[in-house]
Amino acid sequence: MNRREKVADACAQFAQYDTRLCSALEIFDQESIIHASSPEGPLEHMTLLVKDNVCQKGRIASCASHILANYRAPYDATVVDRLKSAGALLVGRANCDEFAMGGSTETSAYKITLNPWDITCIPGGSSGGSAAAVAAGFVDCAIGSDTGGSVRQPAGLCGIVGMKPTYGRISRYGLIAYGSSLDQIGIFSRSVRDNACIMSVIAGHDEHDATSSKHPVEEYEKSCTGHIKPGMRIGVIDNALSASGVDPQVVQRLQEALQEYKKLGAEIVHLTLPTMDDSAAVYFMISRAEAASNLARFDGIQYGMRDKDAQDIVEMYRNTRSAFFGREVKHRIMIGNYVLSAGYADQYYKKACAVRAGMREEFFAALKTVDVLFSPVSPTPAFKLNVFDQDRLAMDVLQDYFVVSVNLTGLPALVVPCGFTREGLPVGFQLIGSLFSESLLYQTGYAYEQVTPWHTYMPTDYKK
Ligand code: GLN
Repeated sequence: MNRREKVADACAQFAQYDTRLCSALEIFDQESIIHASSPEGPLEHMTLLVKDNVCQKGRIASCASHILANYRAPYDATVVDRLKSAGALLVGRANCDEFAMGGSTETSAYKITLNPWDITCIPGGSSGGSAAAVAAGFVDCAIGSDTGGSVRQPAGLCGIVGMKPTYGRISRYGLIAYGSSLDQIGIFSRSVRDNACIMSVIAGHDEHDATSSKHPVEEYEKSCTGHIKPGMRIGVIDNALSASGVDPQVVQRLQEALQEYKKLGAEIVHLTLPTMDDSAAVYFMISRAEAASNLARFDGIQYGMRDKDAQDIVEMYRNTRSAFFGREVKHRIMIGNYVLSAGYADQYYKKACAVRAGMREEFFAALKTVDVLFSPVSPTPAFKLNVFDQDRLAMDVLQDYFVVSVNLTGLPALVVPCGFTREGLPVGFQLIGSLFSESLLYQTGYAYEQVTPWHTYMPTDYKK
């Protein structure tokens, strides 16, 4: 297929199936998709969906929130700019949890995305639209953001590959901030190699983002050799695999994946990382504190919607934020302001920062003794819609458990599909590497993919 046919094909798939799946908030006009990107480049035949918190010039960037319903991005995020220059075809905006806050894509102000493997289940979140569109085969790949697992968890629950790179590996310029010390842009794909190809294009220093790293960018796809690193040591995080509440079918699929790695020549080492058990609590404080600060800018003046009936400015702030933020976002802003407030900051926020420092030490020390760490992504396969409606916090704690230590430590992690439950829901495993070890993660993930069939399976309901 040429570029024009690829775009037409993707748009036709969205038109036919996405009224049901609801992965996209908008699919762009076909001509504008083609004209927006360079006609040639390493990604010239690749279609992508971009999460709605990443700016695409001239397009709405709503963060799936009513408060930014009318906000058009005046510039391209650096990742979008680099993708367009490499020829990638950016077909639309992916649904997500409002301001990327959630683990199920149910907090979107607009629609609820369904899991393509079972439409009675959620796709994970917050980047659930990106994951669902890739898993269903509407697009080749997608861009998401990962503040506390929002690329890896939906990748796992949708049976695709998800990469959260080292903090600073990819520019955050044009990513609408949630938790600035945690946020990283991440990549969804059906194969490890496609993921690596995109990373080679979008990684690297950017003068617009002072936290982007000057660490040299590699040709990541070259690490997809089919062999694991000689003498490879994989450290299984035992307290994760044996944690109470992990579905036995998830444990079983992960044990089988470890057997494959043994056959590939890896040495399996067992270790415990006790701070992982505190990570959800630490993440809770830090992410809410940073969210409260970042979302203060949505005041009805600088961006987005405004209450026009207010009598004075304070009333205008209050009415705007009350009317246009959703419940989950308001909840988090209130908690964030509380943990930062005088009298409580020492008890909550500062304590969380201290535990975070200890967590970094523990993870970095472990990664001196093994090449990568191995853990579940989420304790269960995709769960049914609405089950956590009365207790979002319970969902957050469960879904954040194995993923947020990676954001708190800044380390990179790759999720790879490793089979299905009896009910036909996908399961993935997570590999965590040292800082800037993306190549090693891709090499390790790719070698597994070559000896297993999971990445070739797709849900059958979306074939034309
Ligand atoms: N479950 C996490 C949260 O709700 C995911 C956030 C993210 O990575 N964007 O905070």
